[in-house]
Amino acid sequence: MLEKFQKVIAQTSDQPMGLEISHAEGPFIYTTKGRRYLDFISGIAVSSLGHRHPAVVKAIKEQVDRHLHVMVYGEFIQSAQVDFADLLTSQLPENLSQVYLVNSGTEANEGALKLAKKFTGRTKLIGFNNSYHGDTHGSLSVTGRHIYRDPYEPLLPDVHFLDFNQYEGLDLIDEDTAAVIMEPIQGEGGIIESDPDWICEVRNRCDEAGALLIFDEIQSGFGRTGKLFTFEHYNVVPDILCLAKAMSGGMPMGAFVSSPKIFEAFKYDPPLNHVTTFGGHPVSAAAAYANLKELLSGDYFEKAELIEEKAKTILSGPGIIEVRGKGAMLGLQLENRELTQKVVEECFGKEILLGWTLHSDTLIRIAPPLIIEDKLLIETLETIAGAVRRNVHTT
Ligand code: PMP
Repeated sequence: MLEKFQKVIAQTSDQPMGLEISHAEGPFIYTTKGRRYLDFISGIAVSSLGHRHPAVVKAIKEQVDRHLHVMVYGEFIQSAQVDFADLLTSQLPENLSQVYLVNSGTEANEGALKLAKKFTGRTKLIGFNNSYHGDTHGSLSVTGRHIYRDPYEPLLPDVHFLDFNQYEGLDLIDEDTAAVIMEPIQGEGGIIESDPDWICEVRNRCDEAGALLIFDEIQSGFGRTGKLFTFEHYNVVPDILCLAKAMSGGMPMGAFVSSPKIFEAFKYDPPLNHVTTFGGHPVSAAAAYANLKELLSGDYFEKAELIEEKAKTILSGPGIIEVRGKGAMLGLQLENRELTQKVVEECFGKEILLGWTLHSDTLIRIAPPLIIEDKLLIETLETIAGAVRRNVHTT
């Protein structure tokens, strides 16, 4: 199967992890070789309720028995979409009261950038160095890493980058600016939290300039940081909120959320500004509704807090620079690349899946599912700490 995989599946790198999957359940992924891996990165911040949560699987099965795709997004009334949007907006501030459903994280950001340009009639966009917003042309244009952008230039014009958490340069947000797009916690950039005063200042500058503030919570949303959304940790509300990943319990869907006043710009000149055939697929929407209902009814946010507390106490000592982040969106910053690689490899040998973030090779992503039992959480963190101890002096 490995040979066929390499032959017919377009490869994304020379080093795919290459596990052949049999099935997945709860926090575990099982391979055809009979091994059981603990998914300590939740499929990159997707499976927050574990794999195949029973409530999500039930909702998917019921929806499959009713209907699959019936029409491009936005034309027909599909209860799965309406119920999810209703529940989601009931949890959000007043201005975030309408949901536009799409297919993925990057499409949510594409839609948000287009909406901001259309609503403001402006073209200038501001992003932050070290950010990640996705790999389609618009999202890539505002992603703050040259190595990913450069091969695809020219990208969108009139895009400018500022340093994250730096006040200098914020006057670039001016009357020509359509939007500022940012992650409240940079994920792929290496789990960098916003400074609470700085993020308020970004909001103020946007208000003064009439620019829209877009929060990309594609990675940080749906309970990962111990609140439903990360912006709740800060006293700041965005004009547009972008979501995906953990939203639909393992099914593909994205969304951008804003006010009816802003969304009005998408209905005219021309109508149908962002056509998406499969956006808000009914099976994904049904899964998202069940997923959110479960997330709101359990003690998952407390579990995220416990994960942070345990990780920050257990993961300390020589070789470890720091553990940073909030809740279950954490990064273990190690001394150097070799140590990082050895720790990831040793843990992989012990059937624990860890990984890097995209822009950093000295940071291990710690993002366990929020259903993980306390005992397993603590044992796993101790295994990681042991791997650091064993390898720190050999690198
Ligand atoms: N924004 C952020 C913050 C992300 O972490 C990601 C995915 N890693 C994306 C956007 C893109 O999402 P998708 O892969 O669903 O297009």
